[in-house]
Amino acid sequence: MSRFVQREKNGLVYMTSPVISANHAFTTRFGGVSEGYLASLNLGFNRGDERGRVMENYRILGRALGMDVMRAAYTKQVHGTHVRLVTEADRCCPTDPDPCESDGLVTDVPGLPLFCFTADCVPLLLHDPVRGVAGAVHCGWRSSVGDIPAEALRLMRGLGSRPGDVRAAIGPAIGACCFETDADVPEAVERWLGPDAARSFIKNKAGSAKFLVDLRGALRCRLIQLGLEPGCIDVSDECTMCCHEKYWSHRYTRGERGSQCACICL
Ligand SMILES: [Zn+2]
Repeated sequence: MSRFVQREKNGLVYMTSPVISANHAFTTRFGGVSEGYLASLNLGFNRGDERGRVMENYRILGRALGMDVMRAAYTKQVHGTHVRLVTEADRCCPTDPDPCESDGLVTDVPGLPLFCFTADCVPLLLHDPVRGVAGAVHCGWRSSVGDIPAEALRLMRGLGSRPGDVRAAIGPAIGACCFETDADVPEAVERWLGPDAARSFIKNKAGSAKFLVDLRGALRCRLIQLGLEPGCIDVSDECTMCCHEKYWSHRYTRGERGSQCACICL
Protein backbone atom coordinates (compact mmCIF):
# COMPACT_ATOMS: atom_id res chain seq x y z
CA MET A 1 0.00 0.00 0.00
CA SER A 2 1.60 3.22 -1.15
CA ARG A 3 1.87 6.01 1.40
CA PHE A 4 3.04 8.64 -1.10
CA VAL A 5 1.48 12.08 -0.71
CA GLN A 6 0.92 14.70 -3.41
CA ARG A 7 1.96 18.24 -2.50
CA GLU A 8 1.75 21.60 -4.21
CA LYS A 9 3.79 24.71 -3.59
CA ASN A 10 3.53 27.83 -5.79
CA GLY A 11 2.13 25.68 -8.60
CA LEU A 12 4.84 23.03 -8.36
CA VAL A 13 3.22 19.61 -7.92
CA TYR A 14 5.40 16.87 -6.43
CA MET A 15 5.23 13.68 -4.43
CA THR A 16 6.78 12.87 -1.07
CA SER A 17 6.87 9.79 1.13
CA PRO A 18 6.32 9.87 4.90
CA VAL A 19 9.01 7.22 5.45
CA ILE A 20 11.66 9.83 4.59
CA SER A 21 12.03 12.66 7.10
CA ALA A 22 14.71 14.56 5.11
CA ASN A 23 13.67 17.23 2.60
CA HIS A 24 12.89 15.38 -0.64
CA ALA A 25 10.63 15.31 -3.69
CA PHE A 26 9.64 13.31 -6.74
CA THR A 27 8.62 15.86 -9.37
CA THR A 28 5.75 15.64 -11.87
CA ARG A 29 5.17 17.43 -15.17
CA PHE A 30 3.36 20.27 -13.38
CA GLY A 31 4.68 23.64 -12.27
CA GLY A 32 7.32 24.62 -14.82
CA VAL A 33 7.61 27.06 -17.74
CA SER A 34 8.52 24.74 -20.63
CA GLU A 35 6.11 24.66 -23.57
CA GLY A 36 4.74 22.38 -26.26
CA TYR A 37 5.52 18.69 -25.82
CA LEU A 38 7.86 19.62 -22.95
CA ALA A 39 5.17 21.40 -20.90
CA SER A 40 5.81 22.16 -18.29
CA LEU A 41 8.36 20.98 -15.69
CA ASN A 42 11.13 19.55 -17.85
CA LEU A 43 14.43 19.21 -15.96
CA GLY A 44 16.46 17.72 -18.81
CA PHE A 45 18.87 19.97 -20.74
CA ASN A 46 19.26 17.42 -23.52
CA ARG A 47 15.58 16.98 -24.41
CA GLY A 48 15.34 19.73 -27.04
CA ASP A 49 14.14 22.41 -24.62
CA GLU A 50 15.26 26.04 -24.45
CA ARG A 51 18.07 26.29 -21.94
CA GLY A 52 16.58 29.38 -20.25
CA ARG A 53 13.31 27.58 -19.63
CA VAL A 54 14.99 24.54 -18.09
CA MET A 55 17.03 26.86 -15.85
CA GLU A 56 13.84 28.59 -14.74
CA ASN A 57 12.33 25.17 -13.95
CA TYR A 58 15.30 24.47 -11.67
CA ARG A 59 14.86 27.87 -9.98
CA ILE A 60 11.15 27.13 -9.40
CA LEU A 61 12.05 23.74 -7.92
CA GLY A 62 14.79 25.17 -5.72
CA ARG A 63 12.55 27.93 -4.36
CA ALA A 64 9.65 25.57 -3.64
CA LEU A 65 11.80 22.97 -1.88
CA GLY A 66 14.31 25.32 -0.26
CA MET A 67 17.23 23.52 -1.91
CA ASP A 68 20.31 25.16 -3.42
CA VAL A 69 19.84 23.54 -6.84
CA MET A 70 22.65 25.59 -8.40
CA ARG A 71 25.16 23.99 -6.00
CA ALA A 72 23.95 20.40 -5.84
CA ALA A 73 25.25 16.97 -6.86
CA TYR A 74 24.39 15.94 -10.42
CA THR A 75 25.86 13.07 -12.34
CA LYS A 76 25.89 11.56 -15.79
CA GLN A 77 23.54 8.54 -15.74
CA VAL A 78 24.57 5.60 -17.90
CA HIS A 79 22.39 2.64 -16.77
CA GLY A 80 25.38 1.19 -14.89
CA THR A 81 25.90 0.12 -11.29
CA HIS A 82 28.40 2.71 -10.10
CA VAL A 83 27.42 4.86 -7.11
CA ARG A 84 29.47 7.88 -6.05
CA LEU A 85 30.11 9.21 -2.60
CA VAL A 86 29.81 12.99 -2.94
CA THR A 87 31.04 15.82 -0.72
CA GLU A 88 31.20 19.63 -0.75
CA ALA A 89 33.80 19.40 -3.51
CA ASP A 90 31.27 17.80 -5.86
CA ARG A 91 28.78 20.67 -5.83
CA CYS A 92 27.93 21.74 -9.35
CA CYS A 93 25.16 23.40 -11.30
CA PRO A 94 22.70 21.46 -13.47
CA THR A 95 24.02 22.93 -16.74
CA ASP A 96 27.50 21.80 -15.85
CA PRO A 97 27.10 18.44 -14.13
CA ASP A 98 29.97 16.43 -12.84
CA PRO A 99 31.42 14.56 -15.83
CA CYS A 100 31.74 11.36 -13.78
CA GLU A 101 29.41 8.63 -14.91
CA SER A 102 27.29 7.03 -12.21
CA ASP A 103 23.67 6.15 -11.55
CA GLY A 104 23.63 6.80 -7.84
CA LEU A 105 24.83 9.42 -5.38
CA VAL A 106 25.36 9.05 -1.62
CA THR A 107 26.34 11.73 0.90
CA ASP A 108 26.44 12.62 4.57
CA VAL A 109 26.90 16.35 3.88
CA PRO A 110 24.00 18.43 5.24
CA GLY A 111 22.60 20.88 2.69
CA LEU A 112 23.98 19.06 -0.36
CA PRO A 113 21.03 18.08 -2.59
CA LEU A 114 21.34 14.82 -4.52
CA PHE A 115 19.49 14.41 -7.84
CA CYS A 116 18.57 11.58 -10.14
CA PHE A 117 16.42 11.79 -13.27
CA THR A 118 13.88 9.41 -14.76
CA ALA A 119 11.07 8.99 -17.30
CA ASP A 120 9.87 5.39 -16.64
CA CYS A 121 12.99 4.08 -14.85
CA VAL A 122 12.64 3.76 -11.08
CA PRO A 123 13.85 6.62 -8.86
CA LEU A 124 14.99 5.38 -5.45
CA LEU A 125 15.65 7.70 -2.50
CA LEU A 126 17.41 6.33 0.59
CA HIS A 127 17.68 7.97 3.99
CA ASP A 128 19.29 6.97 7.25
CA PRO A 129 18.01 9.43 9.85
CA VAL A 130 20.23 7.89 12.57
CA ARG A 131 23.62 8.53 10.96
CA GLY A 132 22.45 11.31 8.65
CA VAL A 133 23.12 9.72 5.27
CA ALA A 134 21.15 10.04 2.03
CA GLY A 135 21.15 8.48 -1.41
CA ALA A 136 19.48 9.06 -4.78
CA VAL A 137 19.64 6.17 -7.24
CA HIS A 138 18.50 5.86 -10.85
CA CYS A 139 17.24 2.28 -11.12
CA GLY A 140 16.60 1.23 -14.68
CA TRP A 141 16.30 -2.51 -15.11
CA ARG A 142 19.96 -2.94 -16.09
CA SER A 143 21.22 -1.03 -13.04
CA SER A 144 18.74 -2.88 -10.82
CA VAL A 145 19.75 -6.39 -11.88
CA GLY A 146 23.38 -5.28 -11.69
CA ASP A 147 22.54 -4.72 -8.00
CA ILE A 148 22.91 -0.96 -7.73
CA PRO A 149 20.83 -0.98 -4.50
CA ALA A 150 23.53 -3.13 -2.86
CA GLU A 151 26.22 -0.76 -4.07
CA ALA A 152 24.36 2.27 -2.66
CA LEU A 153 23.94 0.52 0.69
CA ARG A 154 27.62 -0.49 0.70
CA LEU A 155 28.56 3.20 0.46
CA MET A 156 26.03 4.11 3.15
CA ARG A 157 27.50 1.43 5.45
CA GLY A 158 30.90 3.02 4.81
CA LEU A 159 29.47 6.19 6.36
CA GLY A 160 28.27 4.25 9.40
CA SER A 161 24.71 3.37 8.35
CA ARG A 162 23.09 0.13 9.40
CA PRO A 163 20.62 -1.27 6.82
CA GLY A 164 18.00 -1.65 9.55
CA ASP A 165 18.02 2.13 10.02
CA VAL A 166 17.68 2.98 6.31
CA ARG A 167 14.40 4.18 4.87
CA ALA A 168 13.56 3.88 1.19
CA ALA A 169 11.06 5.56 -1.13
CA ILE A 170 10.59 3.91 -4.53
CA GLY A 171 9.00 6.55 -6.74
CA PRO A 172 6.71 6.87 -9.76
CA ALA A 173 7.93 4.60 -12.58
CA ILE A 174 6.64 2.29 -15.28
CA GLY A 175 4.49 -0.31 -13.54
CA ALA A 176 3.92 -4.02 -13.99
CA CYS A 177 0.84 -3.03 -16.04
CA CYS A 178 3.03 -1.52 -18.78
CA PHE A 179 6.63 -2.75 -18.45
CA GLU A 180 6.52 -5.25 -21.29
CA THR A 181 9.81 -7.03 -21.97
CA ASP A 182 11.45 -9.93 -23.75
CA ALA A 183 12.83 -12.90 -21.83
CA ASP A 184 16.11 -11.12 -21.05
CA VAL A 185 14.62 -8.98 -18.27
CA PRO A 186 12.84 -11.74 -16.31
CA GLU A 187 15.91 -13.99 -16.68
CA ALA A 188 18.11 -11.24 -15.25
CA VAL A 189 15.65 -10.60 -12.39
CA GLU A 190 15.76 -14.34 -11.54
CA ARG A 191 19.56 -14.29 -11.40
CA TRP A 192 19.44 -11.13 -9.26
CA LEU A 193 16.83 -12.09 -6.64
CA GLY A 194 16.90 -15.86 -6.93
CA PRO A 195 14.19 -17.73 -8.86
CA ASP A 196 11.81 -18.19 -5.92
CA ALA A 197 11.87 -14.55 -4.88
CA ALA A 198 11.65 -13.33 -8.49
CA ARG A 199 8.57 -15.35 -9.37
CA SER A 200 5.97 -12.95 -8.02
CA PHE A 201 7.36 -10.02 -10.02
CA ILE A 202 7.20 -11.69 -13.45
CA LYS A 203 4.12 -12.53 -15.50
CA ASN A 204 3.73 -13.99 -18.97
CA LYS A 205 1.78 -11.61 -21.15
CA ALA A 206 -1.33 -13.44 -22.30
CA GLY A 207 -1.23 -14.49 -25.94
CA SER A 208 2.37 -13.43 -26.57
CA ALA A 209 5.98 -14.36 -25.94
CA LYS A 210 6.40 -11.17 -23.92
CA PHE A 211 6.62 -10.65 -20.17
CA LEU A 212 5.33 -8.06 -17.73
CA VAL A 213 7.80 -7.19 -14.99
CA ASP A 214 7.16 -5.45 -11.66
CA LEU A 215 10.54 -3.78 -11.27
CA ARG A 216 9.49 -1.71 -8.25
CA GLY A 217 8.28 -4.81 -6.45
CA ALA A 218 11.57 -6.52 -7.28
CA LEU A 219 13.55 -3.55 -5.93
CA ARG A 220 11.52 -3.61 -2.71
CA CYS A 221 12.26 -7.34 -2.38
CA ARG A 222 15.98 -6.72 -2.93
CA LEU A 223 16.06 -3.97 -0.28
CA ILE A 224 14.50 -6.40 2.22
CA GLN A 225 17.10 -9.02 1.25
CA LEU A 226 19.73 -6.35 1.96
CA GLY A 227 18.42 -5.79 5.49
CA LEU A 228 15.86 -2.97 5.28
CA GLU A 229 12.70 -3.27 7.36
CA PRO A 230 9.63 -3.86 5.14
CA GLY A 231 7.73 -1.12 7.00
CA CYS A 232 10.49 1.37 6.15
CA ILE A 233 10.07 0.94 2.39
CA ASP A 234 7.38 2.93 0.59
CA VAL A 235 6.51 2.14 -3.03
CA SER A 236 4.59 4.55 -5.25
CA ASP A 237 1.62 2.91 -6.97
CA GLU A 238 1.58 5.37 -9.88
CA CYS A 239 2.66 4.10 -13.30
CA THR A 240 4.36 6.78 -15.41
CA MET A 241 3.02 5.26 -18.62
CA CYS A 242 -0.60 5.05 -17.40
CA CYS A 243 -0.28 8.51 -15.78
CA HIS A 244 1.50 10.08 -18.76
CA GLU A 245 -0.28 13.40 -18.29
CA LYS A 246 1.19 13.69 -14.81
CA TYR A 247 4.64 12.13 -15.36
CA TRP A 248 7.17 11.93 -18.17
CA SER A 249 7.06 8.50 -19.80
CA HIS A 250 9.74 7.57 -22.31
CA ARG A 251 7.74 4.65 -23.65
CA TYR A 252 4.44 6.48 -23.96
CA THR A 253 5.99 9.45 -25.79
CA ARG A 254 8.48 7.32 -27.76
CA GLY A 255 11.24 9.54 -26.48
CA GLU A 256 9.63 12.94 -27.15
CA ARG A 257 9.57 13.87 -23.50
CA GLY A 258 11.08 15.83 -20.65
CA SER A 259 12.70 14.52 -17.48
CA GLN A 260 11.49 14.41 -13.89
CA CYS A 261 13.73 14.21 -10.87
CA ALA A 262 13.93 12.64 -7.48
CA CYS A 263 15.93 14.74 -5.04
CA ILE A 264 16.87 14.58 -1.39
CA CYS A 265 18.80 16.93 0.89
CA LEU A 266 19.96 16.30 4.46
ZN1 LIG B 1 0.85 1.30 -16.52
